[in-house]
Amino acid sequence: MAKLDYYNITHTGLSYSRQLTLQNCPRKFELDSKFAIKANRESVTFSYGHAVAMGIQSAIAGYSYEQCMVQCMLAYTHDIEDIGTDGEQASKKSIWTALVATDLFIKRYQAGVYSYLDGWEVARVMQDGKEVPAIELTFVIDLIDGYTFEGHIDLVLYHPEKQRYMVIELKTTGMSSVHEATYKNSSQALGYGAVIDLMAANKGQAASFDVLYLVFQSRSMNIVPMPFVKTTKHRADWLRDLVVEVEKAKLYEHYGYPRQGQHCYSYFRPCEYIDSACQYSDAALSRIFKPVDGTTDEESYTKLTNPDFHFTLDQLLDRQDELIEQIESGEESEVGDADLFMTTMLGDE
Ligand code: SF4
Repeated sequence: MAKLDYYNITHTGLSYSRQLTLQNCPRKFELDSKFAIKANRESVTFSYGHAVAMGIQSAIAGYSYEQCMVQCMLAYTHDIEDIGTDGEQASKKSIWTALVATDLFIKRYQAGVYSYLDGWEVARVMQDGKEVPAIELTFVIDLIDGYTFEGHIDLVLYHPEKQRYMVIELKTTGMSSVHEATYKNSSQALGYGAVIDLMAANKGQAASFDVLYLVFQSRSMNIVPMPFVKTTKHRADWLRDLVVEVEKAKLYEHYGYPRQGQHCYSYFRPCEYIDSACQYSDAALSRIFKPVDGTTDEESYTKLTNPDFHFTLDQLLDRQDELIEQIESGEESEVGDADLFMTTMLGDE
């Protein structure tokens, strides 16, 4: 079974999803990151989303039909006999829907239905002095006081004529309608943008970049494109917010992680810790569970020891300062071809 790779799953390891947990309920973040309570961090929803994303990104990256279907299948790492919760079944989340989504996307993509992807090719970035395709890249940022931020970038495209980068974010939803507000201010792609600046050393390109959310609706089998432009200011704000997040995490570590009771019931089910771990003291939990120290492999997790890119916070801050100077001196353009791009994209589907 393929496994997920994580660099740091202790309480000093942040990622987009762990940041969300920290914001929603610091106590849940503490339980997840300090005590080995969960043997398996997977679910039908997680595997399904991963499989759809893998199938679609493989098609955009130029793989054959057969290769895309196999990639989709291999990315579904959950037990296929587990049909999931009532909600997951109602939203049709399964390996089979993931394969149907991939098949549908490939056929429409090859028929030219997604014209907003015309002219875009897989970006190439510098890794250890060599150019590599920007597919499935892993990165780690060393923050402050031993905290890290890690991420996996599915796919980055480049448009040679427009000289722009575009991060593809592949999402799935069981909702019958999807609103752009769900993704517009999401910080997920901003982190990717900050590291792409460094990976690509993109002198000459517009300093802003595009994010294209492709949202697959499992009930209607529709793929909804949602494009956004992200500027240098967005990325600088993301770095500032990351530092604030670490400072908050340090305060929780010192004073205790608060419980956020309004999140005890969400997505139509109670929190998995509500009648158990959440109620126990940390001392009692330490006696029952092993610590999450990042050294032991779990059923569905292995330690990522060599991320494709490893940066420091200072490197990212220096790069953003450099970009801002270049924009102010007129050497780089902030938005480049963005308006034309947005108009073109929004005219589709
Ligand atoms: S039960 Fe509620 S307070 Fe406790 S960890 Fe879960 S969400 Fe947080």
